[in-house]
Amino acid sequence: GAPSCPHGPALLFVKTSQGKEEGRRFYACSACRDRKDCNFFQWEDEKVSETRLAAREEYNRNHQPFFTHRQNVDRYKNFVLLPLSKRRFCQECQQLLLPAEWEKHSDHQYLCDITTAQLKSPSQLLYPLENKKTNAQYLFADRSCQFLLNLLINLGFRRVLSVGTPRLHEMIQSKAAQEEEFNVRSLLLDIDFRYSQFYTEDEFCHYNMFNHHFFGGEAAHETCRKFLYEENGERVIMVTDPPFGGLVEALASSFKKLMAMWRETEKEGHDNREMPVFWIFPYFFESRILDFFPSFSMMDYQVDYDNHALYKHGKTGRRQSPVRIFTNLTPSMIVLPEEEGYRFCTVCQRYVSSGNQHCEICNSCTSKDGRRWKHCVLCKKCVKPSWFHCNNCNCCTLQKHSCEKTDAGCFVCGGAGHKRSACPSLSRS
Ligand code: SAH
Ligand code: ZN
Ligand code: ZN
Ligand code: ZN
Ligand code: ZN
Repeated sequence: GAPSCPHGPALLFVKTSQGKEEGRRFYACSACRDRKDCNFFQWEDEKVSETRLAAREEYNRNHQPFFTHRQNVDRYKNFVLLPLSKRRFCQECQQLLLPAEWEKHSDHQYLCDITTAQLKSPSQLLYPLENKKTNAQYLFADRSCQFLLNLLINLGFRRVLSVGTPRLHEMIQSKAAQEEEFNVRSLLLDIDFRYSQFYTEDEFCHYNMFNHHFFGGEAAHETCRKFLYEENGERVIMVTDPPFGGLVEALASSFKKLMAMWRETEKEGHDNREMPVFWIFPYFFESRILDFFPSFSMMDYQVDYDNHALYKHGKTGRRQSPVRIFTNLTPSMIVLPEEEGYRFCTVCQRYVSSGNQHCEICNSCTSKDGRRWKHCVLCKKCVKPSWFHCNNCNCCTLQKHSCEKTDAGCFVCGGAGHKRSACPSLSRS
């Protein structure tokens, strides 16, 4: 019953302060956390007149992409027929141009001689949408993307539901086109409609992962359902790398719906199994993710990005990425590369970072960030190496902290004095 904005059904929010609900509940856009990107707002108990409803529907229609997916597919077909000299891509409009449209874009910056190779790697051609609050497109470094693909192939998967992972999708698509024996398929679900210029309706669905909304309606739903159906025993895995500022509960709710879709495709039922999932997310969200998916565990593998100011491998040596893989597969099956320093812990039955020492007291490899953690006997757990035990606060914390007990604290890191939106763990530049 939620009202809709151009991004599908809105989410119901409530302001909280010191853990207590405060004031009226309201609907706001599910996808855009910045009011500048989508200013939809409605009080939960607000009466909306017929005229306003009609105006809203009109507005939502007008705020859909100019070309439909079908039109974009047809345009692509015409585009590839053009000789190289006539293949242009407008960088301002982020759009492939047909000769009849050159005029309109004549004072825009554009690229010429778009090769087939460029068309096969749209994530390189399109600029990453780095708007932190909405799209937050951080593309996998080649090393990490290759690792993920090899891992899931070695695990026996042949179908990948790529939810917000355009680069993984692209790697699978181009391998499938180039290598005859390569038999993995991928379906990309993403809110970035620019990708519809490069993929057919069977390869890409315009999708919002915060409200499980398929912009293409029932037909797109059906495409996804069909893809999840494990024909000829082709096993499916879902791989997702959502924007880190996103609400975990909204994501979890959508992923549960995708998992239910998978469960319902199988006539005999999948017993009590879950659709296998890799959810790529920062380690400091571990407890939030486990709240929603108790069957998941966090792997030590550090996922690296290309356009990530802080986390990518620098020329000056390794910067530590806080991004990990959460999965419902048995941890011992997730083999991490020994040449990158990961080793198998026989007690924990999983691969861990080289710096992650097995703590005899906790009886587990306790480090979350790859550095060696130390055990605090008073807290009865392992803590970051930079922390010390504060007798005032009765817990381990940074040397520099104020001992006053403050409110519930940040949703992301648990820290006090800031909200989730301003969490230093999330800033990336
Ligand atoms: N590392 C991945 C990209 C992750 S960036 C890769 O290299 O393939 C996050 C992705 O999620 C982007 O592709 C972005 O377009 C998509 N995204 C952001 N908000 C979304 C939403 N509400 N619904 C679906 N996809 C979304
Ligand atoms: Zn243009
Ligand atoms: Zn310990
Ligand atoms: Zn302590
Ligand atoms: Zn915080």
